[in-house]
Amino acid sequence: MNKIRLSAIALAVMGLSACGSDGDDGQTGANGVDGSDGKNSIVTQTVLQQGNAHCPNSGVKVDSGLDSNANGQLDETEIQATNYVCEAGVTEVTNTQIATSLNNDWFKAGQQTITHAKSTWQNAVSAAAGAKAMSNNNARIVTLSGDANAQAAQLTELKQQAKNIILFVGDGMGISTVTAARILDGQNKGKMGEEHQLSFEQFPFAGLAKTYNVDAQTPDSAGTMTAMMSGVKTDVGVIGINENIERGNCATQSGNELVTALELAEIAGKSTGIISTARITHATPAATYAKSPDRNWEDVSDMPQSAIDAGCTDIATQLIEFEQHLESRYSDIDVDGIDVVMGGGRRHFLPKDPAFNSPDANSATEGDRTDNRNLITEWQTAYPQGHYVYDEAGFNAINPDSTNKLFGLFNESHMQYAADRKNDIAGEPSLTAMTEKAIKILDNNDQGFFLMVESGRIDHSHHAGSAYGALTDTIEFANAVAKADSMTDDDDTLIVVTADHGHVFTIAGYPKRGNPILGKVVNVGKDEPALAEDGMPYTTLGYTNGRGFMDLGDETNADASYDHDINTGRKDLTNVDTTATGFHQEALIPKSSETHSGEDVGIFAKGPGAFLVNGTNEQSIIFHVMDKAANLVQQANSQLN
Ligand SMILES: [Zn+2]
Repeated sequence: MNKIRLSAIALAVMGLSACGSDGDDGQTGANGVDGSDGKNSIVTQTVLQQGNAHCPNSGVKVDSGLDSNANGQLDETEIQATNYVCEAGVTEVTNTQIATSLNNDWFKAGQQTITHAKSTWQNAVSAAAGAKAMSNNNARIVTLSGDANAQAAQLTELKQQAKNIILFVGDGMGISTVTAARILDGQNKGKMGEEHQLSFEQFPFAGLAKTYNVDAQTPDSAGTMTAMMSGVKTDVGVIGINENIERGNCATQSGNELVTALELAEIAGKSTGIISTARITHATPAATYAKSPDRNWEDVSDMPQSAIDAGCTDIATQLIEFEQHLESRYSDIDVDGIDVVMGGGRRHFLPKDPAFNSPDANSATEGDRTDNRNLITEWQTAYPQGHYVYDEAGFNAINPDSTNKLFGLFNESHMQYAADRKNDIAGEPSLTAMTEKAIKILDNNDQGFFLMVESGRIDHSHHAGSAYGALTDTIEFANAVAKADSMTDDDDTLIVVTADHGHVFTIAGYPKRGNPILGKVVNVGKDEPALAEDGMPYTTLGYTNGRGFMDLGDETNADASYDHDINTGRKDLTNVDTTATGFHQEALIPKSSETHSGEDVGIFAKGPGAFLVNGTNEQSIIFHVMDKAANLVQQANSQLN
């Protein structure tokens, strides 16, 4: 569309110029404007931006006149005629007609944002522009030497070269979750809320990802994270293997394994790390390091005997043996394994024997493994210089400057919800604290690092029907992003923030501005909750399906809803405090667990290569953005050859 508009203007300008040349061939040196021949006539064209007084929809200003003082320029006093060739635009309007918009602060702020984003993009992609010093505040200042072409090439390369990559995945963090979390975070900070922005919403580049799996309209985390980590979309439930696999059939795996961004970074000599508040063997983190025909094969006891006999390995074992597995797949490489691993899921690493329980075990027998292997001690044997920690005190004692291998398993299953962290037996670090510690350890490597950070429990809280839990975990996730952003440099670190999929979670009704996001709908201009057609009040937030309404008071563990019967349909909320931590929103359709949704999720990015994030994309684009930004494939290949 842009191209068509521009060429329309170009044609119009040519038409004008043609008029001016009537009787003036510029050969005799006489007057050039009044129709006689002349060499000193000058016609200049100035591009007019949108919002210009003469051409509200942009256009070109054409000045003509005589260069009387022969300075080679058409000075202001020398202009004898001015014409405007205006772009018609969608509607013909004058500035007066749209003055209410043009003078509006929101409108102006929006224009500024767009102009800024566009110039950032232009600076990033244009080598010619790059050769000049960057005038724009947020652009990097680079001192370059040599001629203009070399400078341009150097700068282009710099701009697309990320030394470090941090991929943040909010599991289940659909668009409605981001919006509601933004409002809650703003309201927690004393604002009305809607105007607030989470850390990653301030990133200069954003786009959308289509989340479907190859065989599923509504996806799961295994297929979606595989897409993000490998650049290849695959089937639901499958980890690190392409769609030629038959889920759960070990015999169909061979030859279909995918290489991930983490593996490429490892081969390229970067430090690598993974963090999750879920079990570290759960689908999202597993897709960074494992190849499994089924996401549920977290330890050997979860696998069918046929799969074990056919040679498939459980996900926990693959994490511990990552280094040797990767080295066995490529000849002549020597990698040092994943440097930072933190999350939950101890049960998959320990033998099914209470003798191996951790000091803060929940269950009588913490471990699940039926092969008697203790993968934690196996890791300690493989990395004698590494540190294993299981609680917050151990975590706090880690000195990141002198540590280059850290393994933290803080819970036998998933880690606590952010809102419930204080209730953990031995204490757990927050997602922000884990992110900070990981970056401090990983950045000891001059080659840079790849870090994946998952907030795994946004998803779980939605499944349990607790908006409070999901939004509180989303806010903590945004805090972790802010921490990472503050610790890294836009010059060398690409940060991508996204989600694997959304949930059937809605923000609805017509609540007034600043109405508590967890509250009941209070209409504009009113102080009392609005009543629905059934005579009862209703909440702004709700779920299409799930376990339904629960009033669990000040409970902070969203999973407490599983201890109660499913209770869907409309309830009288008149005397219920829906902003309480233990309130679970109503749901229409009874399901044992609320489900994922199939709509797009957001991608937010900053740093080298971030400009590649825009438009609506297949989710697998995320791998390609990271690869392009850091030359992962090329760097890994140069190590292999
Ligand atoms: Zn889920």
